[in-house]
Amino acid sequence: MSICIFSHGRCLQYDVGHDHPESASRLHAVQDQLLSSGLAYVLEQRDGNAASRDDLYLAHDRAYVDSLFELVPEHGHIWLDDDTQLNAKMLRAALYSAGSGISAIDYLMQDADRKAFCLVRPPGHHAERAAAKGFCLFNNIAIAAAYALERYKVQRILIVDFDVHHGNGTEDIFQREARVRFFSSFQHPYYPYTDPISRSGSIIKMPLDAGTSGALYRQRWLDEWLPLMHQFQPELVLVSAGFDAHIEDEMGQMKLTDQDYFWLGQQLAQLAARHSQGRLLSMLEGGYEHSPLARSVVQYLKGQL
Ligand SMILES: [Zn+2]
Repeated sequence: MSICIFSHGRCLQYDVGHDHPESASRLHAVQDQLLSSGLAYVLEQRDGNAASRDDLYLAHDRAYVDSLFELVPEHGHIWLDDDTQLNAKMLRAALYSAGSGISAIDYLMQDADRKAFCLVRPPGHHAERAAAKGFCLFNNIAIAAAYALERYKVQRILIVDFDVHHGNGTEDIFQREARVRFFSSFQHPYYPYTDPISRSGSIIKMPLDAGTSGALYRQRWLDEWLPLMHQFQPELVLVSAGFDAHIEDEMGQMKLTDQDYFWLGQQLAQLAARHSQGRLLSMLEGGYEHSPLARSVVQYLKGQL
């Protein structure tokens, strides 16, 4: 059993402003903690490839993808919404962020009992089929899932999103896809203020009150989610792994701890072991307070070992 970390130097080479919470120092903090925990010495690390436009079209409208390449200024930046910037280096990084997910799917499908974690930015789960949103240009996890459906003819893919924010983009892309089951837990009411009720059999939502504790969160997983996840018998388990529901992360008001992320890693690894030959891919979404982000990623990976 192994976990391979996919990333790329390009993901560190853009900046969206000094006061913006989404910064390269997030990835540096995780790398530091992988080293100091000793995990870096037992996990393999690989560079992800860049996604092609055809890869992006798997989950996004062609016109939307093409418009980003047309709109991107050679120097400086434009704003796509109130908090989503577009600049040339960021667009380049976004190709490696999405492409790392594709590289990770190829890695998983080569053999049983493989796990991967994509340590990438920009994140992806707010990007809709035809719109950038919430720091995200391309929906990395959705592109990885769509690639697995297309390239490997996987019939049942489970996507789990435990970021503090709802994965509105992933819902938008897969709401009419019967081969994908999307479980998203999120603080409610909160950004991106989507409908907390599931309107499609493919989408299972768990809106949570601000202040939700790890104990209550785990109980709801055990009572409501895990039985449904097992029932679905996923051939592949993909995770939008955001760590901003941590009690020390001021982006949200939930109260998960490092140990809760260890538990989530354990549960997801057990689910994958039972149904998907151990195949589990996680992609970094949010998590903005450096120390808890880095510690939680390490605990989440340790839970899978
Ligand atoms: Zn988030």
